[in-house]
Amino acid sequence: MAVTVLIDPGHGGDDDGAKGFYWRLKGKNKEQVEVKEKDLALSIAKKIRDLLAPHCHAYLTRSHDKTLTFERRDEVAETLKAELIISIHVNSSRQAGAHGFETYYLDNHDDAAVKKVEEVENKTSGLVGEEAIIRQILTDLVVSQTVTSSKALASSIHGELSKVLPKKYSLTDRGMRPGLFYVLALSKRPAVLLEAGFMSNRKELSKLNSEKFQNDYAAAVARGIKSYIDARFKSPVSLF
Ligand SMILES: [Zn+2]
Repeated sequence: MAVTVLIDPGHGGDDDGAKGFYWRLKGKNKEQVEVKEKDLALSIAKKIRDLLAPHCHAYLTRSHDKTLTFERRDEVAETLKAELIISIHVNSSRQAGAHGFETYYLDNHDDAAVKKVEEVENKTSGLVGEEAIIRQILTDLVVSQTVTSSKALASSIHGELSKVLPKKYSLTDRGMRPGLFYVLALSKRPAVLLEAGFMSNRKELSKLNSEKFQNDYAAAVARGIKSYIDARFKSPVSLF
């Protein structure tokens, strides 16, 4: 039985996510290229889906520019009976020099730096007051059951990214971190959130927006997912 993997391009529709720009030479002039996180995430997610398609059931939470709540993303995961979720994002910081790629796995924890990213990625949840607190407790219980698998999946993906991005694109490896993101926590299944790099860093954004980078990035993520699936779901024993 083939494994079902859900690739979730972050944001979409009314929610642009982070925004950035860089300068590109056009003849003798420089032109400004504006990029939205929702578009970058979709482009990368589609490439990952295409690379995975021959090996497993690979789906996208959205295949075009469309607004999706976290609850709706979770409904998609439920309907498809997805076994894994990989959410694609691009980071942003007020510090223009911030750079590098990160891999988050679903976990409950207490870390100030991680909280900062969570604020950005959780902000469209629309949950306030009591409802948010109750949801938080529920997700904490669910999370505790999937931490080990999420961490193993993250480790497999991050390992592949680390082999390619620092050497080929001089991207800094910011490591693997725990995070409690609603988009992951709601889903009750192993989940990883990727921050491909920083949109707020113009030099980095020009790399992230290139076809070549996105192809290499997607290929590394797909390899990481495949080796996790092979280890977790296709043990040699099941052949007999
Ligand atoms: Zn995002």
